[in-house]
Amino acid sequence: MKDVFLLAGARPNFIKIAPLDAALRSRGISTTLVHTGQHYDAKMSDVFFRDLGIPEPHVHLGIGPGDRHAQTKRIMDALVPLLRERKPDALLVVGDVTSTAAGAMAGVAAGVHVIHVEAGLRSFNWRMPEELNRMIADHHASLLFASEPVALEHLSAERIPSEKVHLVGNVMIDSLRRIEPVAAASDMLARLGLSEKTYGVLTLHRPENVDDPVVFRNLWETIHIVADRLPLVFPVHPRTKSRIESLGLASHADVRMIDPVGYVEMIALLRSAKGILTDSGGLQEEAYGLNIPCLTLRGETERPLTVEQGTSEIVGTSRDRIMDAFDRLMSGAWKTPTPYELWDGHTAERIADIIERTVFPPMTDTP
Ligand code: UDP
Repeated sequence: MKDVFLLAGARPNFIKIAPLDAALRSRGISTTLVHTGQHYDAKMSDVFFRDLGIPEPHVHLGIGPGDRHAQTKRIMDALVPLLRERKPDALLVVGDVTSTAAGAMAGVAAGVHVIHVEAGLRSFNWRMPEELNRMIADHHASLLFASEPVALEHLSAERIPSEKVHLVGNVMIDSLRRIEPVAAASDMLARLGLSEKTYGVLTLHRPENVDDPVVFRNLWETIHIVADRLPLVFPVHPRTKSRIESLGLASHADVRMIDPVGYVEMIALLRSAKGILTDSGGLQEEAYGLNIPCLTLRGETERPLTVEQGTSEIVGTSRDRIMDAFDRLMSGAWKTPTPYELWDGHTAERIADIIERTVFPPMTDTP
């Protein structure tokens, strides 16, 4: 029986791993879920296991907080001996967080094939730690699964052999489709006293937005101007919370700051929102999947499909651009998305089919 280790460490990883674990197991492939502990608290980790019905991790590396270097070292120190001892057929990593890159390097160091799901995305913004994580994972992987066509161009430009690469669609949409009915039945809106399409959802956590005081103060003022016209619900990422506190940023009665919410609660909030303001990659995709206008508070995106065919618009952090897009959102003059056939909720099944028929020869050299 084939044995695949699934590595997850942070919030967006859990959402991606859930459908993959289910699809692999349904094909009789044995999975071992390894939690690195990069995100370790109840609100950023445990709730996703509950909401998505992910089994308890078989192994918890317990690496805890720290900078990228410290976390990378701890993950590799713990994972390399584990992989050498257990010798799975492959180690599957998802997305672009520290655990993704560290896991990919650990896999190759231990002589285990690496599979990267969400391969080939590039923002070409080197201030994003995620950009390096993506490249490290792609260049260590023996099997790469891409979510949108542009990824194939990036991987080809980086001379990654095309036979390793499969365009399969987006596992985030698999989880979204699975959880939508549950979210629709949730009482989240009632609990917050919200009604359909009368509020926006805001998330912010990218270092380039929240770590630079000038950028963050300016963005915060713009958010207040938006909130004067559309009340915002803002589940606050722990990093952002500490920046708001240390900068002493003023509150606004209609920017409702709440703790990070679970996945069901988040999808319940998103699906009924009038619009989304975010710097999150996952939210851009969910906005497309739910057909909700999305102002992407970044200078670029590694997920261009969400702009070209989806509901997202890149607005950066300048007040003029944000307010121009916001005016159009409020007037209802937003673009209509066109569906992309591979974002159909069945990506994990396609990935599992390919893994099932792939022969993983003993690894003699780097991939
Ligand atoms: N999310 C959530 N609760 C929150 C904030 C986000 O469930 O309070 C979900 C969101 O719907 C998306 C994922 O977490 O599926 C995105 O995670 P994040 O923004 O941390 O990472 P990114 O997508 O930018 O890598």
